[in-house]
Amino acid sequence: MVQIGDKFCSNAADPLIVEKGESGGSLTALYKFLLEEGIVDAVLAVKRGADIYDAVPVLIDNPEDVIESAGALHCGTLNMAVIIEKYLRGAFDIKIAVTTKPCDAMAINELIKRGRIVRKNIIMLGINCGGTLPPVPTIKMLKSYGINQDMVLNEEISKGKFIIEIEGNERKEISIDELEEEDKGRRENCRRCEFNIPRTADLAFGNWGVIDSPKNSFIEVLTDTGAEILDKASNKGVLRLKKASADGIMVREKIDKIMVNQAKKWQEKMFSHVEGEFLAVLFKYDADLSRCIKCFACKDSCPICYCSDCSLKSEIPEWVNNAEVPPKPLFHMERLMHMADSCINCGQCEDVCPADIPLSKISHEINSKLREMFDYTPGIDDELPPFSYFLIKRG
Ligand SMILES: Cc1cc2nc3c(=O)[nH]c(=O)nc-3n(C[C@H](O)[C@H](O)[C@H](O)COP(=O)(O)OP(=O)(O)OC[C@H]3O[C@@H](n4cnc5c(N)ncnc54)[C@H](O)[C@@H]3O)c2cc1C
Repeated sequence: MVQIGDKFCSNAADPLIVEKGESGGSLTALYKFLLEEGIVDAVLAVKRGADIYDAVPVLIDNPEDVIESAGALHCGTLNMAVIIEKYLRGAFDIKIAVTTKPCDAMAINELIKRGRIVRKNIIMLGINCGGTLPPVPTIKMLKSYGINQDMVLNEEISKGKFIIEIEGNERKEISIDELEEEDKGRRENCRRCEFNIPRTADLAFGNWGVIDSPKNSFIEVLTDTGAEILDKASNKGVLRLKKASADGIMVREKIDKIMVNQAKKWQEKMFSHVEGEFLAVLFKYDADLSRCIKCFACKDSCPICYCSDCSLKSEIPEWVNNAEVPPKPLFHMERLMHMADSCINCGQCEDVCPADIPLSKISHEINSKLREMFDYTPGIDDELPPFSYFLIKRG
């Protein structure tokens, strides 16, 4: 009987899924099983679009089509919470399973807390994430190393290296540290991210801790739902589960700690470290914010922004909606106050900003400052939204 806290190594029983999957296809095999058994109505995953730099979200209801979504797209920077909240009506009337990087899982949880997504209708199959790569800068980076982007078959990040598989059995390895010193490599928000394992999902899949059997995923069971579906799938012969070894568990923990420490170093390096109240940070970024053209792309792409009547877009107060560009600092203050408690550093706002304002960094810094001020440590079973916590603590 599978239980919360159990850890396994596993791959799919179906050899075609093993071949297509990133690390043995357990996740895809589980999706196929969930659809075949009618446990979910549909699966929300990601598939390759025009090329490997183009990750496209896909809603699949035919078990035979799930294989299209197998594999990892490291330039897939999208956030799944937006799709569920905006386009699947919060899963109020559909039962889905969804692949979640840690930032997807955190955004989904923020929306569950706010009653925008129905938890019981969602099964979250989490994937560990050491960071995603921005598509266009990645193509430019490949060119700077003399690599034709169309010849790249696959890319992965492993053991501190960006590994590129090129047509004709060629392979190039570049140190991530080297890349990031030159401001290439992972997105900036990913470099600062301390959450590599999606602990609020039902199951977490990853390659860390797989030491003696390549083409396998390490799976951690995080909820009763996760335990139940893994148990059923294994009994049905869909997955080949074996208990994770003590060495594998240790290796996974060790790598996670290294990544968390690296993220803290990036925060140290990137944050402005302004003294005083958390909003003081905003003034530090005055020059950046003065480039704002009020296009609202940041608001529209944010997974946590869901108000249909956005106060920033309303007629009142006038200072917000007047034609003045750049807007007054209050405009940004309003948005940041609104987001400060719930920003999950997913980077969507910064990705779409046409004025290259480091919006994600600003929100992340303000959020970190708030946590520091109120000595807040997020817990795995956290029921309270952080802002409620701050208000209670403030008295
Ligand atoms: C961007 C990224 C970074 C990763 N970094 C790490 C890491 O540092 N350490 C680690 O242990 N594991 C990491 N993984 C997870 C690992 O590479 C495997 O994906 C995992 O072990 C599952 O393997 P599988 O063969 O069972 O999955 P598969 O059967 O291949 O299924 C993979 C699932 O992931 C979905 N997917 C692919 N790309 C994305 C994306 N960009 N966003 C959301 N969903 C996506 C697919 O649609 C599919 O549903 C990362 C994965 C990704 C996508």
